[in-house]
Amino acid sequence: MKNLLKALSLSLILCISVVSCGKDANTDTDVKKLVIGMSLDDLRLERWQKDRDIFTSEANKLGAEVVAVSSDGDATKQLSDIENLIAKGVDVIVIIPKDGDSLSPAIAQAVADGIPVMAYDRLINNADLSYYVTFDLEKVGRMQAEGVLAAKNKGRFFYLGGSPDDNNAHLFRKGAMDVLKPYIDNGSIELIGEQMTQSWLPDVALPIIENMLTAENNKVDAIVAANDAIAGAAVQALKTQGLAGIVPISGQDADLSALQRIAKGEQTVTVYKPISILAKEAAKIAVDLANDKTPTANSSINNKFKDVPTMYLEPIKVTKDNLDSTVIADGWATKEDVYQQ
Ligand code: BGC
Repeated sequence: MKNLLKALSLSLILCISVVSCGKDANTDTDVKKLVIGMSLDDLRLERWQKDRDIFTSEANKLGAEVVAVSSDGDATKQLSDIENLIAKGVDVIVIIPKDGDSLSPAIAQAVADGIPVMAYDRLINNADLSYYVTFDLEKVGRMQAEGVLAAKNKGRFFYLGGSPDDNNAHLFRKGAMDVLKPYIDNGSIELIGEQMTQSWLPDVALPIIENMLTAENNKVDAIVAANDAIAGAAVQALKTQGLAGIVPISGQDADLSALQRIAKGEQTVTVYKPISILAKEAAKIAVDLANDKTPTANSSINNKFKDVPTMYLEPIKVTKDNLDSTVIADGWATKEDVYQQ
């Protein structure tokens, strides 16, 4: 009896610590449930909570469990988070990197242990990735600049970029600059300055815009900002100077607060990246990888290690004119919430 109890509790511990166990309907024997490790950069920003939740619910529907960990914007913590997921014996690891250049050792270890790794939304360089799923990121940047240009196509422009350690931030900037360049070249736009925002934090963006407004004597005609979190900080600084709604500004992510600013006329454009499509596709791909299948890709990108099979999804430009037919029609936000005073 004692031995039986011991054996039972041991198998229970194994089930809990390594894999989850379920019953196979046909054979009534224990089967291994897939476990997906998800390592997120930072859950402090609104969008990533949605990514995690939609990803987890889709993975659950596909019969997999998700162990999600946030590194709270700390690249060193993310390395040890990934090491912990490897030690847990997960079947596949999905990573939203804080720093796209610092994860090679952890990924090499995962791959050596036979665990496939995929990058989610942000690319990871110098690593043996099995897959990368993301949006067309330069297009996001182009849409940001186009959205601002539709409101103001000449004058003094400022570029407020994303985090320098995020590969995406450079692609957003490239897309925006490709659109602005002809205007800068023909002299109709003067780029009065640009700055990146460490860790994409609004607290970092706020003094950048406050200082810029002071230095320029409030003479700024438009701001191309790389996402809604930092656009929110910029609008706060503009408001203090009575310039909110006067200076066009872009963003990205269709955060609820940004949609409300658009409805009020305080923000010109955001770029909606349907997270539900990204997260659901990613969950399917992760399950395929864990089952040793090769998911299909619509492109590839070289990450300085190899050509990584990649799936690019399409972003959507959102302005006051199409709030209803995009984010609201899609169920991303409700009309009541968006038009709330
Ligand atoms: C994502 C954006 C997000 C930003 C800050 C980028 O890599 O593509 O959607 O706003 O990170 O978290």
